[in-house]
Amino acid sequence: MKIIMLGAPGAGKGTQAKQIADKYSIPHISTGDIFRANIKNGTELGKKAKQFMDQGLLVPDELTCDLVMDRIQQDDCVNGFVLDGFPRTIPQAEALTAALDNINQKMDFAVDVDVPDENIVNRMGGRRACLSCGATYHIVSIPTKVEGICDRCGSEVVLREDDKPETVQKRLSVYHEQTQPLIDYYNNQGILKSVDGTQAMDKVFADIIAILEK
Ligand code: ADP
Ligand code: ADP
Ligand code: ZN
Repeated sequence: MKIIMLGAPGAGKGTQAKQIADKYSIPHISTGDIFRANIKNGTELGKKAKQFMDQGLLVPDELTCDLVMDRIQQDDCVNGFVLDGFPRTIPQAEALTAALDNINQKMDFAVDVDVPDENIVNRMGGRRACLSCGATYHIVSIPTKVEGICDRCGSEVVLREDDKPETVQKRLSVYHEQTQPLIDYYNNQGILKSVDGTQAMDKVFADIIAILEK
């Protein structure tokens, strides 16, 4: 099963993608996590990506597409994968369609997790991220068991630099301009499904599973 998660920053794509990946034993591929790992490790890619991420801008397609195309051709992707945060532009979507086309494959579902902008700022302000294992929490709705400490790996959880309110507004406008058009793109491919992302986490997950198993 090959799934794309669509939705605004903070809509809950990552939260849902992790659960889907666990349930179906397929890899969760988050371009944001890949970039953050590169930043943490001080790679060239990380240095370049950081300049854009800190401003709430997208990392250029040239730095993003090849990375994902390589990743989805690795052995652990044979039974499928969940893409979280990719594609984010029409050229990225076209590159993905073309790469899969070359090997006679296509994506099965594009799941849009729909959350209005009003809810997003609150979600992002309360998000706490573990930069070691990629887990995310929310100080009110999905808290860590011990304050400030990741349940999964015991590292510290932090407010991401780009989750501060100034940058969140920028990311939202970038989303509407560059990423939202993908909803039409995948609707035209006939694989778009929408879920109400304002519901509780478990209810959103149940709705997604109902779509995938229909
Ligand atoms: P969120 O989960 O809040 O939407 P991500 O972790 O997916 O955030 O992405 C964080 C940042 O990484 C983005 O704001 C952007 O700068 C960069 N990024 C992630 N994925 C992509 C992509 N597919 N194309 C361009 N930039 C990306
Ligand atoms: P995205 O990957 O789309 O940027 P995340 O999965 O990181 O979004 O979720 C953004 C924030 O909202 C996190 O703090 C997460 O814990 C929280 N969150 C995710 N889903 C829900 C939900 N259904 N209800 C309330 N908060 C949620
Ligand atoms: Zn962790």
